[in-house]
Amino acid sequence: MSYSARVKAELATLSAQKRCCVNAELGGLIFGASVMTLSGTRQVSLSFRTDDAAVMRRALKLFNASGPAHARPRLLLQTRTAGRRQYLLQLSQEDTHRLLREQGMLRPDGEGGERFCAPRRVMRRHCCRRAYLRGSFLACGYMADPRRRYHAEWVFQDAARASRLKRVLSQCGLTAGLTSRRDRSVVYIRDGDRLAELLKLMGASLSVLSMENSRAEKSLREITNRATNCDHANLKRQLSASAGQVLAIERISRHMGLNALPQRLEALARMRLAQPDASLADLGGMLDPELSKSGVQHRMQELMKLSQTLPDMTT
Ligand SMILES: [Zn+2]
Repeated sequence: MSYSARVKAELATLSAQKRCCVNAELGGLIFGASVMTLSGTRQVSLSFRTDDAAVMRRALKLFNASGPAHARPRLLLQTRTAGRRQYLLQLSQEDTHRLLREQGMLRPDGEGGERFCAPRRVMRRHCCRRAYLRGSFLACGYMADPRRRYHAEWVFQDAARASRLKRVLSQCGLTAGLTSRRDRSVVYIRDGDRLAELLKLMGASLSVLSMENSRAEKSLREITNRATNCDHANLKRQLSASAGQVLAIERISRHMGLNALPQRLEALARMRLAQPDASLADLGGMLDPELSKSGVQHRMQELMKLSQTLPDMTT
């Protein structure tokens, strides 16, 4: 099961909620995954479609909780390309009208009838905005596994639906991006903190926990990697430096013998040959008397300079 499907499965089983939120979540579902079929001027029926059985169960449950149905909705199972199955819920015209009216999408036309419009009503209650986000995510949302990357998106049939979700997200304090892909409008979030907040808002407590876990693991891994890389680089630098020092000291030894060096340089030179892998600070600690790292550095430079004044002895 994909991460997205796991989040949806959790959301779909959340327990009953207030009537206002039932409508709000249903609104999110309708806006995310419905098709309106027009037959005649006022003959409209709504079909809701999804390939996720848990989401369809949720839609049916919300529909039943939203008010008395005029007719039983028709549930169809369709097989699409590559054997993918899709559930289709068709509502009667009466039920479609009732739902659209509740969503603020039907308004009096002034001549005793009604006309369709985009819902202008702002959701005043925070509980309802959260429910709307849940409905939208169930209908057309996707979230990548946070262990791999931080990415959530909603794919809408048109820009108006996408803008509405973007507005609701921003009312909840979440900034989202908006883009288009082929002929679809896509709202997206690519930030770990915001994704965790989104899960929280939608009520997916278990998914929040698992996300926080994987975020903690990820940052621990990054810190460990950084430390390892850093250690590795330091070690390499140190080894190549000490190899150069050993060569220089060996050269001095061949030309003039280490005994000829001033005592303070001779002690360091012998210590370096004995401890080719030790850092300068460690060498300083092993000398008697002890010497600071910068003191060692200074004396080592003297040795290096001296070795450079000596002629090559290749013959
Ligand atoms: Zn509410």
